[in-house]
Amino acid sequence: MRVPLVYHPLYSAPLPSSHRFPMAKFRQLRQCLADKGLAQEQQFHQPLPCPRRWLELVHPRGYHQAFARGELDRQAQRRIGLPATQPLVQRTWLSVGGTLRTAQLALEHGMACHLAGGTHHAFPDYGSGFCIFNDIAVTASVLLEQGMVNKLVVVDLDVHQGDATAAIFQAEPRVFTFSAHAASNFPSRKQSSDLDLPLADGLEDQAYLQSVGDVLPALLDQQQPDLVLYNAGVDPHRDDRLGKLALSDQGLLQRDHLVFDACLRRNIPVASVIGGGYDTIDALVERHALVFRAASDQARLHGL
Ligand SMILES: [Zn+2]
Repeated sequence: MRVPLVYHPLYSAPLPSSHRFPMAKFRQLRQCLADKGLAQEQQFHQPLPCPRRWLELVHPRGYHQAFARGELDRQAQRRIGLPATQPLVQRTWLSVGGTLRTAQLALEHGMACHLAGGTHHAFPDYGSGFCIFNDIAVTASVLLEQGMVNKLVVVDLDVHQGDATAAIFQAEPRVFTFSAHAASNFPSRKQSSDLDLPLADGLEDQAYLQSVGDVLPALLDQQQPDLVLYNAGVDPHRDDRLGKLALSDQGLLQRDHLVFDACLRRNIPVASVIGGGYDTIDALVERHALVFRAASDQARLHGL
Protein backbone atom coordinates (compact mmCIF):
# COMPACT_ATOMS: atom_id res chain seq x y z
CA MET A 1 0.00 0.00 0.00
CA ARG A 2 1.05 3.56 -0.61
CA VAL A 3 0.25 5.71 2.40
CA PRO A 4 -2.82 7.92 1.92
CA LEU A 5 -1.89 11.61 2.03
CA VAL A 6 -4.16 14.57 2.68
CA TYR A 7 -3.55 18.00 1.16
CA HIS A 8 -5.43 21.00 -0.15
CA PRO A 9 -3.99 23.60 -2.56
CA LEU A 10 -5.48 26.40 -0.43
CA TYR A 11 -3.41 25.45 2.65
CA SER A 12 -0.74 28.00 1.80
CA ALA A 13 -2.87 31.11 2.22
CA PRO A 14 -1.04 34.30 1.27
CA LEU A 15 0.49 36.27 4.15
CA PRO A 16 2.46 39.52 4.05
CA SER A 17 5.98 38.57 2.93
CA SER A 18 7.40 39.94 6.18
CA HIS A 19 5.26 37.59 8.29
CA ARG A 20 7.27 35.13 10.36
CA PHE A 21 4.91 32.17 9.94
CA PRO A 22 6.25 29.99 7.06
CA MET A 23 2.88 29.66 5.29
CA ALA A 24 4.41 28.58 1.97
CA LYS A 25 5.66 25.36 3.55
CA PHE A 26 2.50 23.39 2.80
CA ARG A 27 2.66 23.95 -0.96
CA GLN A 28 6.42 23.38 -1.04
CA LEU A 29 6.09 20.21 1.00
CA ARG A 30 3.63 18.83 -1.56
CA GLN A 31 6.21 19.52 -4.28
CA CYS A 32 9.11 18.20 -2.23
CA LEU A 33 7.35 14.86 -1.60
CA ALA A 34 6.66 14.49 -5.31
CA ASP A 35 10.30 15.32 -6.14
CA LYS A 36 11.55 12.71 -3.67
CA GLY A 37 9.23 10.02 -5.03
CA LEU A 38 7.41 9.90 -1.69
CA ALA A 39 4.06 10.94 -3.14
CA GLN A 40 2.21 10.04 -6.29
CA GLU A 41 -0.89 11.80 -7.50
CA GLN A 42 -3.20 8.91 -6.64
CA GLN A 43 -2.14 8.96 -2.97
CA PHE A 44 -3.65 12.39 -2.42
CA HIS A 45 -7.01 13.06 -0.86
CA GLN A 46 -8.42 16.58 -0.82
CA PRO A 47 -10.33 17.45 2.34
CA LEU A 48 -13.54 19.41 2.74
CA PRO A 49 -13.79 22.17 5.32
CA CYS A 50 -14.74 20.79 8.73
CA PRO A 51 -18.54 20.96 9.07
CA ARG A 52 -19.60 23.62 11.56
CA ARG A 53 -21.46 21.31 13.94
CA TRP A 54 -18.31 19.21 14.26
CA LEU A 55 -16.05 22.18 14.84
CA GLU A 56 -18.48 23.24 17.55
CA LEU A 57 -17.84 20.03 19.48
CA VAL A 58 -14.73 21.93 20.62
CA HIS A 59 -14.99 25.58 19.60
CA PRO A 60 -18.07 27.62 20.60
CA ARG A 61 -19.80 29.60 17.91
CA GLY A 62 -19.02 32.91 19.56
CA TYR A 63 -15.30 32.28 19.09
CA HIS A 64 -15.20 30.89 15.58
CA GLN A 65 -17.60 33.53 14.28
CA ALA A 66 -15.66 36.36 15.86
CA PHE A 67 -12.48 34.97 14.32
CA ALA A 68 -14.01 34.61 10.84
CA ARG A 69 -15.47 38.11 10.95
CA GLY A 70 -12.27 39.70 12.19
CA GLU A 71 -14.08 40.67 15.38
CA LEU A 72 -11.70 39.22 17.95
CA ASP A 73 -10.29 41.93 20.16
CA ARG A 74 -6.74 43.08 19.53
CA GLN A 75 -5.27 41.05 22.33
CA ALA A 76 -6.95 37.83 21.14
CA GLN A 77 -5.83 38.55 17.60
CA ARG A 78 -2.26 39.23 18.69
CA ARG A 79 -2.19 36.05 20.70
CA ILE A 80 -2.97 34.06 17.54
CA GLY A 81 -0.38 35.96 15.52
CA LEU A 82 -2.05 35.50 12.12
CA PRO A 83 -4.28 38.00 10.27
CA ALA A 84 -7.92 36.90 9.82
CA THR A 85 -8.03 37.36 6.05
CA GLN A 86 -10.59 35.43 4.00
CA PRO A 87 -8.01 32.94 2.59
CA LEU A 88 -6.66 32.35 6.07
CA VAL A 89 -10.12 31.70 7.49
CA GLN A 90 -10.78 29.29 4.63
CA ARG A 91 -7.51 27.37 5.11
CA THR A 92 -8.17 27.16 8.84
CA TRP A 93 -11.46 25.31 8.30
CA LEU A 94 -9.88 23.15 5.60
CA SER A 95 -6.97 22.13 7.78
CA VAL A 96 -9.27 20.83 10.51
CA GLY A 97 -11.21 18.93 7.83
CA GLY A 98 -7.87 17.59 6.61
CA THR A 99 -6.84 16.14 9.95
CA LEU A 100 -10.25 14.54 10.30
CA ARG A 101 -9.95 13.04 6.81
CA THR A 102 -6.46 11.77 7.65
CA ALA A 103 -7.76 10.05 10.77
CA GLN A 104 -10.60 8.43 8.83
CA LEU A 105 -8.13 7.19 6.21
CA ALA A 106 -5.87 5.83 8.94
CA LEU A 107 -8.77 3.87 10.42
CA GLU A 108 -9.48 2.48 6.98
CA HIS A 109 -5.91 1.74 5.82
CA GLY A 110 -3.78 1.51 8.98
CA MET A 111 -1.97 4.79 8.50
CA ALA A 112 -2.32 8.15 6.79
CA CYS A 113 -0.43 11.44 6.79
CA HIS A 114 -1.62 15.04 6.66
CA LEU A 115 0.50 17.71 4.97
CA ALA A 116 -0.71 20.22 7.58
CA GLY A 117 -2.27 20.20 11.07
CA GLY A 118 -1.02 20.09 14.61
CA THR A 119 -2.48 23.38 15.89
CA HIS A 120 -2.23 22.26 19.48
CA HIS A 121 -2.21 25.69 21.19
CA ALA A 122 -5.82 26.44 20.20
CA PHE A 123 -8.12 26.36 23.23
CA PRO A 124 -11.91 26.16 22.83
CA ASP A 125 -12.50 29.91 22.97
CA TYR A 126 -9.16 31.44 22.14
CA GLY A 127 -6.24 30.79 19.84
CA SER A 128 -2.55 31.09 20.56
CA GLY A 129 0.86 30.69 18.91
CA PHE A 130 -0.35 30.53 15.25
CA CYS A 131 -3.10 28.07 16.26
CA ILE A 132 -6.74 29.01 15.70
CA PHE A 133 -8.69 25.74 15.83
CA ASN A 134 -7.41 22.57 17.49
CA ASP A 135 -7.54 20.07 14.62
CA ILE A 136 -6.59 17.06 16.72
CA ALA A 137 -9.11 17.90 19.43
CA VAL A 138 -11.90 18.34 16.89
CA THR A 139 -10.93 15.12 15.12
CA ALA A 140 -10.86 13.09 18.33
CA SER A 141 -14.20 14.54 19.41
CA VAL A 142 -15.88 13.78 16.08
CA LEU A 143 -14.59 10.20 15.94
CA LEU A 144 -15.76 9.56 19.49
CA GLU A 145 -19.13 11.13 18.88
CA GLN A 146 -19.64 9.08 15.75
CA GLY A 147 -18.67 5.90 17.55
CA MET A 148 -15.80 5.26 15.14
CA VAL A 149 -13.39 4.85 18.06
CA ASN A 150 -13.74 4.28 21.78
CA LYS A 151 -10.24 5.26 22.83
CA LEU A 152 -7.57 7.52 21.36
CA VAL A 153 -4.01 8.38 22.25
CA VAL A 154 -2.54 11.73 21.19
CA VAL A 155 1.24 11.51 20.80
CA ASP A 156 2.50 15.09 20.62
CA LEU A 157 6.23 15.30 19.92
CA ASP A 158 6.28 18.91 18.75
CA VAL A 159 8.88 20.76 20.83
CA HIS A 160 6.12 22.82 22.44
CA GLN A 161 3.72 21.26 24.91
CA GLY A 162 0.32 20.29 23.45
CA ASP A 163 -1.20 22.50 26.10
CA ALA A 164 -4.64 23.13 24.65
CA THR A 165 -5.15 19.49 23.65
CA ALA A 166 -4.24 18.45 27.20
CA ALA A 167 -6.65 20.97 28.71
CA ILE A 168 -9.52 20.08 26.35
CA PHE A 169 -9.32 16.38 27.22
CA GLN A 170 -8.36 16.67 30.86
CA ALA A 171 -11.70 15.23 32.00
CA GLU A 172 -12.17 12.91 28.99
CA PRO A 173 -10.96 9.40 29.86
CA ARG A 174 -11.36 8.21 26.25
CA VAL A 175 -8.55 10.49 25.06
CA PHE A 176 -5.10 9.95 26.53
CA THR A 177 -2.75 12.89 25.87
CA PHE A 178 1.01 12.40 25.80
CA SER A 179 3.32 15.36 25.22
CA ALA A 180 7.14 15.27 25.10
CA HIS A 181 8.47 18.81 24.86
CA ALA A 182 11.30 21.11 25.85
CA ALA A 183 10.46 22.08 29.43
CA SER A 184 11.70 25.64 28.96
CA ASN A 185 9.84 26.30 25.69
CA PHE A 186 6.58 28.15 25.07
CA PRO A 187 4.01 27.99 26.61
CA SER A 188 5.45 29.17 29.90
CA ARG A 189 2.31 28.10 31.70
CA LYS A 190 1.99 24.37 31.04
CA GLN A 191 -1.17 22.32 31.27
CA SER A 192 -1.33 18.76 32.58
CA SER A 193 -1.36 16.11 29.87
CA ASP A 194 -2.18 12.57 30.93
CA LEU A 195 1.53 12.02 30.48
CA ASP A 196 4.05 14.85 30.17
CA LEU A 197 7.69 14.27 29.35
CA PRO A 198 9.44 17.60 29.96
CA LEU A 199 12.89 17.52 28.37
CA ALA A 200 16.06 19.47 29.18
CA ASP A 201 17.40 22.12 26.79
CA GLY A 202 19.95 20.86 24.30
CA LEU A 203 18.88 17.21 24.46
CA GLU A 204 20.38 15.27 21.54
CA ASP A 205 19.24 12.30 19.46
CA GLN A 206 20.19 9.37 21.60
CA ALA A 207 18.86 10.69 24.90
CA TYR A 208 15.70 11.95 23.24
CA LEU A 209 14.97 8.66 21.48
CA GLN A 210 15.62 6.77 24.67
CA SER A 211 13.26 9.01 26.66
CA VAL A 212 10.40 8.62 24.19
CA GLY A 213 11.20 4.96 23.51
CA ASP A 214 11.09 4.21 27.22
CA VAL A 215 7.48 5.32 27.59
CA LEU A 216 5.61 5.01 24.28
CA PRO A 217 5.40 1.22 23.82
CA ALA A 218 4.25 0.65 27.39
CA LEU A 219 1.77 3.47 27.05
CA LEU A 220 0.21 1.89 23.96
CA ASP A 221 0.08 -1.52 25.64
CA GLN A 222 -1.64 0.00 28.62
CA GLN A 223 -4.13 2.19 26.75
CA GLN A 224 -4.80 -0.05 23.74
CA PRO A 225 -6.27 2.80 21.69
CA ASP A 226 -8.26 2.37 18.49
CA LEU A 227 -6.24 5.19 16.91
CA VAL A 228 -3.11 7.24 17.56
CA LEU A 229 -3.04 10.87 16.46
CA TYR A 230 0.61 11.83 16.05
CA ASN A 231 1.91 15.42 16.00
CA ALA A 232 5.29 15.09 14.29
CA GLY A 233 6.42 18.70 14.76
CA VAL A 234 9.99 19.18 13.55
CA ASP A 235 10.85 22.01 15.93
CA PRO A 236 12.90 19.70 18.23
CA HIS A 237 15.56 20.04 15.49
CA ARG A 238 18.85 21.63 16.58
CA ASP A 239 18.60 24.36 13.92
CA ASP A 240 15.02 25.32 14.68
CA ARG A 241 14.60 29.01 15.53
CA LEU A 242 12.06 28.47 18.28
CA GLY A 243 12.92 25.04 19.64
CA LYS A 244 15.42 24.35 22.39
CA LEU A 245 16.27 20.71 21.75
CA ALA A 246 19.09 19.48 19.52
CA LEU A 247 17.89 16.65 17.30
CA SER A 248 19.50 16.00 13.93
CA ASP A 249 17.63 15.08 10.75
CA GLN A 250 18.49 11.46 11.49
CA GLY A 251 17.16 11.82 15.03
CA LEU A 252 13.83 13.16 13.79
CA LEU A 253 13.59 10.37 11.24
CA GLN A 254 14.30 7.74 13.88
CA ARG A 255 11.72 9.33 16.16
CA ASP A 256 9.07 9.06 13.43
CA HIS A 257 10.05 5.44 12.76
CA LEU A 258 9.78 4.72 16.46
CA VAL A 259 6.24 6.10 16.69
CA PHE A 260 4.92 4.43 13.53
CA ASP A 261 6.56 1.12 14.36
CA ALA A 262 5.23 1.14 17.94
CA CYS A 263 1.70 1.65 16.58
CA LEU A 264 1.79 -0.68 13.60
CA ARG A 265 3.36 -3.64 15.41
CA ARG A 266 0.35 -3.45 17.75
CA ASN A 267 -2.09 -3.07 14.85
CA ILE A 268 -3.02 0.40 16.05
CA PRO A 269 -3.90 2.76 13.18
CA VAL A 270 -1.90 6.00 13.21
CA ALA A 271 -2.58 9.38 11.62
CA SER A 272 0.18 11.99 11.51
CA VAL A 273 0.09 15.77 11.24
CA ILE A 274 3.17 17.87 10.52
CA GLY A 275 3.08 20.26 13.49
CA GLY A 276 5.53 23.12 13.94
CA GLY A 277 8.92 24.02 12.55
CA TYR A 278 10.72 27.32 12.14
CA ASP A 279 13.68 27.82 9.82
CA THR A 280 14.34 28.91 6.26
CA ILE A 281 11.60 27.43 4.16
CA ASP A 282 13.76 24.99 2.19
CA ALA A 283 15.36 23.51 5.31
CA LEU A 284 11.99 23.30 6.99
CA VAL A 285 10.29 21.51 4.14
CA GLU A 286 13.11 18.92 4.03
CA ARG A 287 12.52 18.31 7.73
CA HIS A 288 8.76 17.94 7.37
CA ALA A 289 9.38 15.42 4.57
CA LEU A 290 11.04 13.07 7.06
CA VAL A 291 7.79 11.87 8.60
CA PHE A 292 6.53 10.93 5.14
CA ARG A 293 9.68 8.94 4.46
CA ALA A 294 9.28 7.11 7.77
CA ALA A 295 5.59 6.45 7.04
CA SER A 296 6.35 5.09 3.60
CA ASP A 297 9.07 2.77 4.92
CA GLN A 298 7.00 1.60 7.86
CA ALA A 299 3.99 0.84 5.67
CA ARG A 300 6.23 -1.40 3.61
CA LEU A 301 7.94 -3.01 6.61
CA HIS A 302 4.60 -3.85 8.19
CA GLY A 303 3.10 -5.10 4.97
CA LEU A 304 0.25 -2.60 4.78
ZN1 LIG B 1 5.92 23.74 18.04
